[in-house]
Amino acid sequence: MLRIMSEGEVARALKCVLARVSTATKGRRPDVAALGSQARLVAVSKTKPKEMIIEAYSAGQRHFGENYIQELVDKGNDQQILAECPDIRWHMIGHVQSNKVKKVVEVPNLHCIETVDSIKLATTINNAVQKNLGDKKLKVFVQVNTSGEDNKSGIHPDRVNELVSHVLQNCAHLDLAGIMTIGAFDHDLTKGPNPDFQRLLKCRAEVCEAQCMETKDVELSMGMSNDFEHAILVGSTNVRVGSTIFGARNVKK
Ligand SMILES: *Cc1c(COP(=O)(O)O)cnc(C)c1O
Repeated sequence: MLRIMSEGEVARALKCVLARVSTATKGRRPDVAALGSQARLVAVSKTKPKEMIIEAYSAGQRHFGENYIQELVDKGNDQQILAECPDIRWHMIGHVQSNKVKKVVEVPNLHCIETVDSIKLATTINNAVQKNLGDKKLKVFVQVNTSGEDNKSGIHPDRVNELVSHVLQNCAHLDLAGIMTIGAFDHDLTKGPNPDFQRLLKCRAEVCEAQCMETKDVELSMGMSNDFEHAILVGSTNVRVGSTIFGARNVKK
């Protein structure tokens, strides 16, 4: 049965998640803490109504994530959201087909695309940004398929550096924020750290070495409702949390 969250419940749940983010960030070992900034919370509002977004925004939340292009376009252009949430920052966290790039890049207040997983897509986004945003750069994350499962999107871990190189050298209108993974969500933490997160850490180390970049300049987007605290403890700087803030989603599109 679908439980409807009542007024005020989103703000309360958000406050609780922020407290957990803060506790986890403070709980990092010093060597982990040195490598990344305070973790940012992206509130994943996919399938949820704009009233909930506005409530979370009113409670201070600024970063929001959407998975589906049409939903991002609709919410990003919504008159009420534009009026009441002028400083909202949208993260595209779902798969982007090349022929939909223009629609995504045109969304007002688009902050970043977290799901760049091919050279072709990077080039297409770069060209669209040049056309639509002029001198403004767009932040991107390279999405990595850390679990190697065929049904998951993301580039193979062995090819991350090649894609990062392409973004850095050939995509003047993109600003590489870091790398992102979804990973297996059913990992049992009593069996040790989530291997997908460890693989993303390893990818970052390889990228930093190859590109002569500092670790702290390559963010890690990993961690969702069921594992964001663990993700932060091992070094995530960007967690994407949906159902713990907005309630369970009833349908998967
Ligand atoms: C839906 C989604 C999330 C949030 O998932 P929850 O389990 O509801 O927190 C995070 N990241 C991506 C890529 C998603 O699609």
